[in-house]
Amino acid sequence: KLYNQVQDLKGNIRVYCRVRPFLGDQPSHYSSVSNVEEGSISIMTPSKYGKEGKKTFTFNRAFGPSATQAEVFSDMQPLVRSVLDGYNVCIFAYGQTGSGKTHTMSGPNELTEETLGVNYRALGDLFLLSEQRKDTIFYDISVQMLEIYNEQVRDLLTTDEIRNSSHDGINVPDANLVPVSSTTDVINLMNLGHKNRAVGSTAMNDRSSRSHSCLTVHVQGRYLTSGSTIRGSMHLVDLAGSERADKSEATGDRLKEAQHINKSLSALGDVIASLASKNAHVPYRNSKLTQLLQDSLGGQAKTLMFVHISPEPEALGETLSTLKFAERVS
Ligand code: ADP
Ligand code: MG
Repeated sequence: KLYNQVQDLKGNIRVYCRVRPFLGDQPSHYSSVSNVEEGSISIMTPSKYGKEGKKTFTFNRAFGPSATQAEVFSDMQPLVRSVLDGYNVCIFAYGQTGSGKTHTMSGPNELTEETLGVNYRALGDLFLLSEQRKDTIFYDISVQMLEIYNEQVRDLLTTDEIRNSSHDGINVPDANLVPVSSTTDVINLMNLGHKNRAVGSTAMNDRSSRSHSCLTVHVQGRYLTSGSTIRGSMHLVDLAGSERADKSEATGDRLKEAQHINKSLSALGDVIASLASKNAHVPYRNSKLTQLLQDSLGGQAKTLMFVHISPEPEALGETLSTLKFAERVS
C-alpha cells in the first residue's frame, strides 16, 4: 500500500530495469550485476569507477537475465490497459546499443509466441479487452509509426517517398494513422515500418540504433448507450542507443548524430525529472521527441521509463551512466 502511495506522489512515473543475459556462446563469465531483487539491482564496481564495492539501485521493478517476455509484460499490463480508460501512456526503452531495448519492445528477429515483445502483447491485450467490453463500449484502435533521426520526424507507415515533417509543433498531422483490429494487422504494419526504417542504413551505419522509433496507439471508445466518447493513447518508444560516442571516431555525420541523440535523451531526462519533482516549468521544447510527446507526458498521463543494462564488465561505464539516468528520473 505504501508502494502505491509513493506511486501517486511520483505523479505516475515508474522506472523499471532489465538486465540482458549473456549472449550465445559468450562464456558465462563474471557479470557486473551481482544481485537482482524484485525492486533493486546491485552492481560490482572496481575502484576505477570511484569507491570499490557494491552499489545498489532501486526501481519500481527489476528483471534479471532469466525474466521472460511474458513476465515482463505482465508487470506492464495494468498500464497498457489504462489506455482503454482514457489515459495517455508513454513507455520508453532506454539503454546502450545491445542492452536489449528492441528485444523488450519488439522481440528478437525470429519471433515466436514466447518471444513477442511488449508492442505485440500490448496491442493483443487491447484487442482482447475491447472485445470483452463490446456490449457497453465500442473501441476504434489505430496506430502510427514514426522515427526521429537527427531531430527530423519521419513516417514509417508509408511507402511513398520519405517525408520529413517540416512541422515545428507537436503532432505530425500528415503521418499515416492506420486502423487495426487484429494482431495480424499489427504484425504486417510493424513489418512495413521495419522495412521503411531500414532504408538509409547500411551495415556500417545501423541507423536503428541512432534513431528513436515510436509506435503510437490511438484508442477511441464510444459508449453504446450514451454515445459519449473517451480517448486514450499509448506511445511505445524504442530510444536511440544512449552510449557516448567514441571521441576519437566521432566526426562529421557520426558526430552530428551523436549530438542529436545526446540532446534528445537529455531533454527527455530533463522533462521526466522535472515531472517527477513536480516542477512548475517542464522543458518540453528542447527536443523533437519531447515536443512530439508533450500531450502524453505529465498531467494525468502515465510514464514508464524502462532502462536496460548489459551484464558484461566491459559495459560497466555505460551501465553506470544508464543507472544514473534512471536515478535522476525516479
Ligand atoms: P538494443 O535494441 O538495445 O540495441 P537488442 O534488443 O537488439 O539491443 O539486443 C541485442 C541482442 O541481445 C539481440 O540479439 C537480442 O535478441 C539479444 N537479447 C537482448 N535481450 C535479451 C533477453 N532478455 N533474452 C535473450 N536475448 C536477448
Ligand atoms: Mg535496438
